Amino acid sequence: MAGTETRANVPVRPSASAVRAAIAGNPNSGKTSIFNHLTGTIQSVGNWPGVTVSRKEGRAFLGDREFVIIDLPGTYSLTAYSLEEVVARNFLIDKQPEAVINVLDASNLERNLYLTVQLMEMNTPLVVALNMIDVAERRQLKIDAAHMAELLGVPVVRTMGNRGEGMRGLLEACVDVADRDVRPGVQRIHYGHEVETEVRALTDVIASDAGVSDAYLPRWVAVKLIEKDEEVHKSIRAVATDVAAIDEAADKAIRAIERHFKEPAEIIIAERRYGYAAGVVRECVTPAGEGAIQDVTDQIDSIVCHRVVGPLLLAGIVYMLFAAVFKVADEWPWLFGRSPSGWVATFFERCQSAISPLGAKAPLLYSLLHDGVIGGVGGVMVFVPLIFVMFMFVAILEDTGYIARVAFILDRALKLFGLQGKSILAMIVAGGLGGGGCAVPGVMATRTLREEKDRLVTMLVTPLMNCGAKIPVYLMLIAAFFANHQAHMMFLMWALSWVVALGAAWLLRRFVVKGEQTPFVMELPAYHMPTVKGVLLHTGERTWMYVKKAGTIILAVNLILWAAMYFPRIDAGAVRAELVKANPGMSDADVDNGVAEIRLSRSIAGRLGTALTPLSKLAGFDWRTNIALIGGFAAKEVIVGTMGTAYAMGEIDPGTSETLSQHLAHDSDWNPVRALALMIFVMVYAPCLVTTAVIRRESGKWRWALFALAYTSVLAFVLAVLVYNVGSLFLAS
Ligand code: GDP
Ligand code: MG
Repeated sequence: MAGTETRANVPVRPSASAVRAAIAGNPNSGKTSIFNHLTGTIQSVGNWPGVTVSRKEGRAFLGDREFVIIDLPGTYSLTAYSLEEVVARNFLIDKQPEAVINVLDASNLERNLYLTVQLMEMNTPLVVALNMIDVAERRQLKIDAAHMAELLGVPVVRTMGNRGEGMRGLLEACVDVADRDVRPGVQRIHYGHEVETEVRALTDVIASDAGVSDAYLPRWVAVKLIEKDEEVHKSIRAVATDVAAIDEAADKAIRAIERHFKEPAEIIIAERRYGYAAGVVRECVTPAGEGAIQDVTDQIDSIVCHRVVGPLLLAGIVYMLFAAVFKVADEWPWLFGRSPSGWVATFFERCQSAISPLGAKAPLLYSLLHDGVIGGVGGVMVFVPLIFVMFMFVAILEDTGYIARVAFILDRALKLFGLQGKSILAMIVAGGLGGGGCAVPGVMATRTLREEKDRLVTMLVTPLMNCGAKIPVYLMLIAAFFANHQAHMMFLMWALSWVVALGAAWLLRRFVVKGEQTPFVMELPAYHMPTVKGVLLHTGERTWMYVKKAGTIILAVNLILWAAMYFPRIDAGAVRAELVKANPGMSDADVDNGVAEIRLSRSIAGRLGTALTPLSKLAGFDWRTNIALIGGFAAKEVIVGTMGTAYAMGEIDPGTSETLSQHLAHDSDWNPVRALALMIFVMVYAPCLVTTAVIRRESGKWRWALFALAYTSVLAFVLAVLVYNVGSLFLAS
C-alpha cells in the first residue's frame, strides 16, 4: 500500500499549506469509514507517542488543496477518564489542527452531541458530519441540518460513511473553516445563571494569569477546573504564574456551585451539557411516530411543550403564581391575623405614630422623620414580602426546569418583537397580567435570559407593565371620569401596556439595541425536585440585595423629595392671614388646606411644577399634576397622595381616594380626555428610582438606566400629547 508506514507519529510529508483535519467522534459513529473514504489508500498507521492507542494519518485532496487527516481515538467525552480521551484532547490542544471533523451518529444524536458540546467549549474549528443519516431516516427522524449549523455556529454536512457519501462536502467545509478560521465562539455554551457567574469570575482570574492565558483558553480552563479535572490542573500548575490564586478562585467557584445545587460541581456541568444537547435535538429533530418518546422528561415535555396544551398550561401556572404571590404576601391574613405585607405596613405606621408627639415641638424634625425617613423606608420595605414570595416561586419554577420550557413555548411569537421566550416571565412579574406586580423583581427576573441583547431589551420594556403602584392612579381617575366603564377601562389599560411594551421592544431592536438575534440553543435540562434549602438560600440572597441597595437609594431620594416639597418654608401665619383676608367666609379646614397648598406651590417642587407647565400643558397637565409626576419618578406610589395634597384635599391615602376623585370630577379644568392622557403618561413614563437602580445594576451600565428613564419619558409625553389633543378634538366636536 502506498505510503503505509508503521512508525509512530510519522507525517505523510504534507506541503506547508495543507489543511490538518482531525476526526473526532464517539466509537462506532463511523469515523474510520469516513477516514478511509477521505484518504483512500494514502495512510500511515502507528501508535500515539508513549501509549498503545493506535493512530492513523492520511492525505486527501480537493482540487489543488491538500489535507492531512488524523483519525483520533473514539471517545464519548473529553474529560480525563480514559487514555483515549487524554490523547484526543492533548492532540487538539497541542497541535491546534485547522479543522476538526466531528462525526456524529445521527440516529443517536443526543448522546453524540455531548462530545460536540465539549469540542465547542474548546472553541475548536469544527465541521460536523451528520453520519448514518440513512439510519436516522429509516427511523423516521427528520434532521434540519441547516438549523443545526445555525445553532452550533459551525458547518453541518450530511454523510454516509459506509458509502462515502458527503465526503466532498466535508472537505469543502474544512477548507472554509480553515481559511476563514470559523469557530463556534467561546460563549456559545451557557451553563445557566448560577454556574455562569462562577465560570466568569474564575475565567477572569485565569485570564489575568499570563502564564495560563498564553497557553490555554481561559474559559475552557475555568470549566475544567470546576469539573475538577486533574490533568488540566496539572498542566496549569506547570505554566501558572500564581497557582495559589487560581486554586483559591477555583475552590470558591466549586463551593458556590455545590452549595447552590447540593450536588458535585462536575455533575452540574455534565448536566448542563446534556441539557444543551437535548435542546439541540428538540430544535432540529422532528421525530415521526410514537417510538420517539423515551423517558419521563420526554413524556412530560411532550405535554408541557405541546403546541396547544403548553401555552394553556403556562397561562394557568403563571396565573396561579401571580395570584398566589399576592394572596400569600399581601392579602391572606394568615400570619397571626395579618398578611406579611400588612405586618410591615403596620410596623411603619406604628413608628410614625410613635413620633407624633414631636409634631408640635419640632415640626421640621417631625416632618423629616415622618415623611422622609419612615415613609421612605416603609415604602420600600412594604414590598419585601411580595418580592420574597415572588422570588421563591420563580426559584422553584427555575430549579424544576420549567422556566426552560416556558422559553420554548413562547419563543417564536416573541421573536417577532425582538424579545424571546423568557422575556415573558419578567414582564408578567412586573405586572403583565394586569392586576399589579413590580418591575423590580421583573428586571431581576431577566437574569434567566442568556442573550445579552434580548436581556437588555426585556429590561428596558419591563417597566412599561402596569405595576401595583400605577393601579391606584388608574382607579382614582377611572372612578372620576369613567365610572360606568370601570372594568372596560382597566382592561384597556392592560391591553395598552402590552401594545406599548411590544411596540417599544420592536423599535428598540430596530434602532437602539441593533443586530441580528443570534440563534441559540435553549437548554432543556432534566426535570428536578427543587430542595427547600436551595430555594430559600437563593430567595434570601436576592431579597437581601433588594433590601440593601434599593433601600439606600429610595431613602436618599425620598429625603431629597421631602426637602423639595418642604423648603423654602414660608411663614404659615402670614399666609393664613392673607388667605382669611381675601376669603372672609372660609371654613377653618379650607383655610388649613389653602395654607398647605400655597406653601407647596412656593416650595422648590412647587416652583419646578410651575416651571414645567409650558411643556406639560400640551398634554393637559397643570402644576399640581406636575409635582405629583415628579414625585412619581421616585415611586409611583406617591402620585395619588401628592396630587391629593396638591389639590388641597389634605392627606389622601391611595386606598381611599374617593375624595380626590370627586374633586377632580367636579373640577371644570378636568375632563375624561385629560384623565386618559394622564393615565397613559403614568403607565409609560420613567421607571421608578428603585427600578432604575436595578436596571443600572443588572445591565452594568448607568447609560442604560438613564436611557430607560429618557426614552420612556419621551414616549410617555408624546403619547399623552397625542391622546390629549386628538381626544380634545373629539370632545369639542
Ligand atoms: P468508528 O468506530 O467511529 O471508527 O466507526 P466505523 O467507521 O468503524 O463504523 C462502524 C460501523 O458503522 C461500520 O460497520 C460501518 O460500516 C458503519 N457505518 C459507518 N458509517 C455509516 C453510515 O453512514 N450509514 C450506515 N448505515 N452505516 C455506517
Ligand atoms: Mg475506528
